[in-house]
Amino acid sequence: MSQTLQAVRGMNDILPTDAETWEYFEDIVRDWLQSYGYRPIRMPLVEPTPLFKRAIGEVTDIVEKEMYSFEDALNGEHLTLRPEGTASCVRAAIQHNLIPSGGPQRLYYYGPMFRHERPQKGRYRQFHQIGVEALGFAGADTDAELILMCARLWEDLGLEDVALEINSLGSPEERAQHRAALIAYLEQHQDKLDEDGKRRLHTNPLRILDTKNPELQAIVEAAPRLADYLGDESKAHFDAVQVFLKDAGIPYRINHRLVRGLDYYNRTVFEWVTTRLGAQGTICAGGRYDGLFEQLGGKPQPAAGFAIGIERLLLLWQACGGEAERPVPDVYVVSVGEAAQRLGFRAAETLREHGFAVLMHCGGGSFKSQMKKADASEAPVAIVIGEDEAAAGEVGLKPLRFSGAQQRVPIDELVEAMAALMFPEEEDEEV
Ligand code: ATP
Ligand code: MG
Repeated sequence: MSQTLQAVRGMNDILPTDAETWEYFEDIVRDWLQSYGYRPIRMPLVEPTPLFKRAIGEVTDIVEKEMYSFEDALNGEHLTLRPEGTASCVRAAIQHNLIPSGGPQRLYYYGPMFRHERPQKGRYRQFHQIGVEALGFAGADTDAELILMCARLWEDLGLEDVALEINSLGSPEERAQHRAALIAYLEQHQDKLDEDGKRRLHTNPLRILDTKNPELQAIVEAAPRLADYLGDESKAHFDAVQVFLKDAGIPYRINHRLVRGLDYYNRTVFEWVTTRLGAQGTICAGGRYDGLFEQLGGKPQPAAGFAIGIERLLLLWQACGGEAERPVPDVYVVSVGEAAQRLGFRAAETLREHGFAVLMHCGGGSFKSQMKKADASEAPVAIVIGEDEAAAGEVGLKPLRFSGAQQRVPIDELVEAMAALMFPEEEDEEV
């Protein structure tokens, strides 16, 4: 016997009950994004590898060790399954000249991302993000709006224990000055750095600050702070963001070690973290990335955005008691006999035409066994058709979830009878 095939490690099937939860949640998310004026954009899952190298930076976890990159066997192109969406979104905006023609753009996307990481709770190789990008906006007002809208979603979802951390990465020039000081400081502690730290000391020392290695905490805690290198403009921008946050009553903590894993950020960066999910506590991360358009060969454009990790958000939502409403059919059609089943199909299509969700019993069986299925479907009403009804061109309407006797109605009056049964108040109003 051949071995059964399994999904790729870290890439999950989302089975029907979970998938229903996802869809329920996606509806909430779409309404939320629309309420802030964000419009959808959909980019390919595969992009040229140089896009991510240029956007994210060569010396980052993602580019160094997490990308699914391959050579197209047919034409030798270097391709990568997208590890994140911002690079693609900005690539698309440049390629289609979205901003000069349309003014600034508020965009969002939703979908799978791929990173070769060690799978564990809240960390997968295929995971999903909602990405929100405000392209062409320079001000602190936009940074604040992005943070505020996250807070609104957490509130809509009833999340608890989510805290906001913010920081400013300043301008590239300010970062360069801080970088020199940081390298000088870390060189003094070189022997105590771990392997990653030693390797990054001269390539990406900022990233040493967000190390998860507990043995390095004391060293990074005492390291020179970027905040002390910010110029007036960066400071004013950061202050303005904080004024908006205070106005909105959103508590936050300035985390001087929040530097984000990607190279493209400047000025405001933020993360929303929870203590409820163990080590994988960041449910949302983002910031400003004014240099990215130019870095990808476009005309300079200011921009800011964030990405939410959906698996983590759903885990937290469920931990906070969140539950999806499951879709339930309005009607279950039960029929015995060929003529009855044919009438059943007609009844089902007629009802669907009028907006009812109908589950048609397929696969035959006795009335009794079909009625059991009808009950299990949670449909409030069953349509019951036997030979008698079929011969008369009528169907039986049987309430399953509320009181009332079964009634027989001609097929032509089915929609009205169904409406009267399902929405009795509205009937009263019309009279
Ligand atoms: P981490 O530090 O946890 O690796 P990150 O900084 O690499 O996160 P981002 O690139 O900022 O993550 O992605 C934004 C969000 O996407 C994260 O805050 C997280 O919620 C989610 N995310 C990132 N990587 C994964 C993954 N491998 N599995 C599940 N969710 C992820
Ligand atoms: Mg990561």
